[in-house]
Amino acid sequence: MVTSITPYRDELGVSDGRMLIGGQWSAAASGATWTHVHPATGEQVAAFPVAGPADVDRAVRAARRAFDEGPWPRMRAGERGKILRAIADLARAHGEELVKVQALDNSVPLSFAEIYVTSGEFVADVFEHHAGWTDKLAGETLPPFQGGDHLVFTLREPVGVVGAVIPWNAPLMLLAQKVAPALAAGCTIVLKPSEYATFAVLRLAGLMMEAGLPEGVFNVVTGPGDPTGDALVNHPMVDKLSFTGSRAVGEKIMAAAAHGCKRVSLELGGKSPAVVFADADVGTAAATTMGTVTLGLSGQVCVAQTRALVHREALEEFLATSQMIASMVSYGNPFDPEVTSAPLINPRQLDRVLGLITRGQEEGATLVFGGTREEGDLATGNFVAPALFTDVSNEMAIAREEIFGPVLSVISFDDEDEALRVANDTQYGLGATVWTSDIRRAMRMTKAIRAGTIGINGYQVEPNSPFGGFRSSGMGREGGRAAVEGYTELKTVLLPLTDEMM
Ligand code: NAP
Ligand code: MG
Repeated sequence: MVTSITPYRDELGVSDGRMLIGGQWSAAASGATWTHVHPATGEQVAAFPVAGPADVDRAVRAARRAFDEGPWPRMRAGERGKILRAIADLARAHGEELVKVQALDNSVPLSFAEIYVTSGEFVADVFEHHAGWTDKLAGETLPPFQGGDHLVFTLREPVGVVGAVIPWNAPLMLLAQKVAPALAAGCTIVLKPSEYATFAVLRLAGLMMEAGLPEGVFNVVTGPGDPTGDALVNHPMVDKLSFTGSRAVGEKIMAAAAHGCKRVSLELGGKSPAVVFADADVGTAAATTMGTVTLGLSGQVCVAQTRALVHREALEEFLATSQMIASMVSYGNPFDPEVTSAPLINPRQLDRVLGLITRGQEEGATLVFGGTREEGDLATGNFVAPALFTDVSNEMAIAREEIFGPVLSVISFDDEDEALRVANDTQYGLGATVWTSDIRRAMRMTKAIRAGTIGINGYQVEPNSPFGGFRSSGMGREGGRAAVEGYTELKTVLLPLTDEMM
């Protein structure tokens, strides 16, 4: 048996939640609730409201009022920055508590939350970094094209009310990456978290209010895509949609944005390649690649390197190290320090992942190890033994579809041209890694691979650097200047300086 998470829930004070609308903690008008079931133990964690259209409307109107009439967009930029820094300080001080609440949501093990990108520290750094943008959002002055004595310059202004929707795999980090730049720009926000990761978001929302955000600036509506997300993305008073999630839902969000020409940014899925040449440190390449699909979130990561393109001469060492990493995976209660990896988030995902593994076998790939549901003591959770396929061709479903589980598809290649062709033969373009000791080869591949982020002999996410996708992996960028500018409109001002120009 996986030990119970209930004592941790009680210690953390997680009980039935409310959503945050206009600075007030509210139930749904209908009284509807959703009870969260823990993905490792099957225990009920607690319930929260399911916001219907009336609740979403109230939240959007609160954000609208806060934008149109409230102090936030009008506040001195430095003051906005101070509040963002106060959020960072509180997130840092409560970092451990936040990641524990997150473990009640999605069962990401605490051992993994020590890794920077899933820590409270990362959340704090994202807010702190973006706090610095509040007083640096400058326009530019342009030379008058038609001559004469007049000034032409641009202003950057906040886009307005942002409707943000995030998934469940890294709720704290994903919240920060949307909300910090939007707040820095002077926007107000209504956020819908996933119903599979609500409690950590509510805890962080409480800290954000404590930091001094004026009421209505940040609102959280809880509930599933239907009805809550749907009501938010179709609300006519929302100016911009900012979505992170699957490609299928992203396409719906983009269609919703078409009505009324809402601005839209999308952070979607991937099928990212790790390209491993024979001159690389093959052991590190394999450990990192297999690590991203098995440790921590068990491959439920948008940038997981799920297609390993391995030079034929490096294959043997790559497989041996991958197997060693898979053998380190330990499942169970996320609060247990020995546990390394999360279960799949829900039974639907479990069925999907097992279905794709079967499909890989049917299509002729060799399942070298893993790929079955964990039974016995682990039967309470959605656990799948880490799997690795060889003899994969890039046409197979396991090479084309985002599996979002602990499955690595290994495709071997003989030369650089072939590796590049296969790397780019995908509808996605989120991340890629290139493993080689030849810097010129690394740069040739970097320039030629169509993806938003390329890691050379490693991979990390940085709070201040643009992150996002080419092609079906999304549009727009999170992190740094590009993110903040994505929450602004550009206004051009024409100012004649002499009477003749009038
Ligand atoms: P998902 O099914 O697309 O859901 C994402 C969010 O959208 C959830 O809050 C979801 O609510 C909501 N939603 C669903 N249908 C909606 C609708 N019609 N209108 C408005 N909102 C709706 O994604 P997921 O399974 O939670 O997360 C995994 C996906 O996220 C993967 O594809 C992964 O690659 C991607 N991801 C991308 C990034 C990135 O930065 N590029 C980061 C993390 C994850 P429900 O909970 O009801 O589905
Ligand atoms: Mg979903």
